[in-house]
Amino acid sequence: MKISGPLVVATGLGGTRIYDMVRVGDLKLFGEVIEIRGEEYYIQVYEETEGLGPGEPVSSTGEPLSVELGPGLIGSIYDGIQRPLDILHRDLGSYIVRGATRHPLEREKRYRFIPKVGIGQDVSHGDLLGTVSESKLIEHKIMVPAGVTGKVVMIEGSEGSGLTIEEVIARIETEGGTREVTMLQKWPVRRPRGVAKRLPPSAPLVTGQRVIDMFFPIVKGGTACVPGPFGSGKTVVQHQLAKWSDADIIVYVGCGERGNEMTDVLMEFPELKDPRSGEPLMERTILVANTSNMPVAAREASVFTGITIAEYYRDMGYDVALMADSTSRWGEAMREMSGRLEEMPGEEGYPTYLGSRLAAFYERAGNALSFGSDKRRGSLSVIGAVSPPGGDLSEPMTQATLRVVRVFWGLDERLASQRHFPAINWLTSYSLYQEKVDEYADGEVNAKWKENRKEAMALLQKEAELEELVRLVGIDTLSISERLLLETAKMLREDFLHQNAFDPQDAYTSLKKQYLLLDLIITFYHKAKEASSANVEFQKITAIPAIGEIARAKRIREEDVSLFEDIRERITGELDTLIEGERVNSGN
Ligand code: ADP
Repeated sequence: MKISGPLVVATGLGGTRIYDMVRVGDLKLFGEVIEIRGEEYYIQVYEETEGLGPGEPVSSTGEPLSVELGPGLIGSIYDGIQRPLDILHRDLGSYIVRGATRHPLEREKRYRFIPKVGIGQDVSHGDLLGTVSESKLIEHKIMVPAGVTGKVVMIEGSEGSGLTIEEVIARIETEGGTREVTMLQKWPVRRPRGVAKRLPPSAPLVTGQRVIDMFFPIVKGGTACVPGPFGSGKTVVQHQLAKWSDADIIVYVGCGERGNEMTDVLMEFPELKDPRSGEPLMERTILVANTSNMPVAAREASVFTGITIAEYYRDMGYDVALMADSTSRWGEAMREMSGRLEEMPGEEGYPTYLGSRLAAFYERAGNALSFGSDKRRGSLSVIGAVSPPGGDLSEPMTQATLRVVRVFWGLDERLASQRHFPAINWLTSYSLYQEKVDEYADGEVNAKWKENRKEAMALLQKEAELEELVRLVGIDTLSISERLLLETAKMLREDFLHQNAFDPQDAYTSLKKQYLLLDLIITFYHKAKEASSANVEFQKITAIPAIGEIARAKRIREEDVSLFEDIRERITGELDTLIEGERVNSGN
């Protein structure tokens, strides 16, 4: 046995397959076979290998790295190989003992199983057998496992004191004999769970964050990345999405640094409240986190463990959002392992398969029909944070991510330092779902959604050009119409794009209110141009009291959106008065 950090090379494991789990050494450390060269098995060890000596035994489990799926996932905090951190902490203290195991799902807990099929019914993969109430917010659906087709010959009723996840809930007569089904099922993490049919995206994942929903939207089943240097608001964006997006289930994968970065997540997340239900967000959240005493190699396991759990809830027909923070740390882990395997390095030492590994992960996102006769539609949206060293977006990890995701929210250090939050740069960010969401919002929100959105973005882009000009030759060279444009762009930035995550009135904005707010600014711009053409002075236009109302409008409560119409009328009225005054003055 050779040992090089998290890489162990062992022999004598005949019959072990690639990606099988093994237990390494006297401590039985968890490892995964990642390469086989002749008689040599290359093992990625997910625990600190310190003290491990050559000659210690390695044994194969004969199974690939798999997760347990079933009631009890919600609210859990796992490490990358799905060990329940809270339970290990309770039993073993703050330091996780190497090689320690605990069941990911509680074995003793009883759930009241509500059957959804009857005896004699034909069922196959994905059919709903029954439900249990998993948390205050989530109903867990027990589905027929893959590969099982047949007739139900026994199904548990809802009487009694409830069932544990290991007790048999159904017997299904199949061609190969009777299969006993429990609520506890398993799935290998590196294999996507598969769907009956992939569907095109049909609706936005509404985040309530104006810069995102209006200008750089993501759809249910979409992918996005959010690169950001330290302090640019990455965490706040992720928290806002976890709290406010209209996903049913949140899976948060933290592949952080050793030490503090991860502790923060473990401390912060359980404190978050679900704003809609008032319950703790953990009632619909699962956390997967690398801990400080796990080596970097475990980050890869976290990512795949997280996405497999997320797919499982998608299969139930839920809209699931997975957030991975930060995928750069996973990239670093791949680089380290690749180096130790002495593979031919790609760019900057990252493995040549960096792109395909990332694609294999992000491609598991999507909107889909699950297996099962009741045709459940579910979605899995994936949002990955990236932390490019020095904010340099040309580095390999960011570039490889951008090639596979469809939305880019570029966090900007300069905006953050000006305290413009969310610091998403509107000039560099993009969304390839824009057209889809325009279509949706034109129909569901207002027929002028797209038109206004395009005009607003054009104004912001024009502002950037004019600012350059002003820097060179001063503001006096600008025409009145250009100055009106700058004035309007400033409103767009301050009164629309800027959104305070910590102000209860401002933290979330519905699509309807987003439209109305933007429409106020566009209305002002059109009317102001009209006034300017009628020779009303610039100073008078920009001094109308209604401008103050626009600035305050983002704090109007969702139930009071009818107030927007009043402000709109005031804008038009005040500018009409100026136009009328000018007409009288000039004696026409
Ligand atoms: P990162 O995770 O990128 O290091 P954070 O998400 O912790 O950065 O953000 C740093 C700080 O910026 C926060 O503590 C907060 O003060 C401020 N901030 C970020 N986003 C917002 C927001 N949407 N509204 C208000 N303040 C914000």
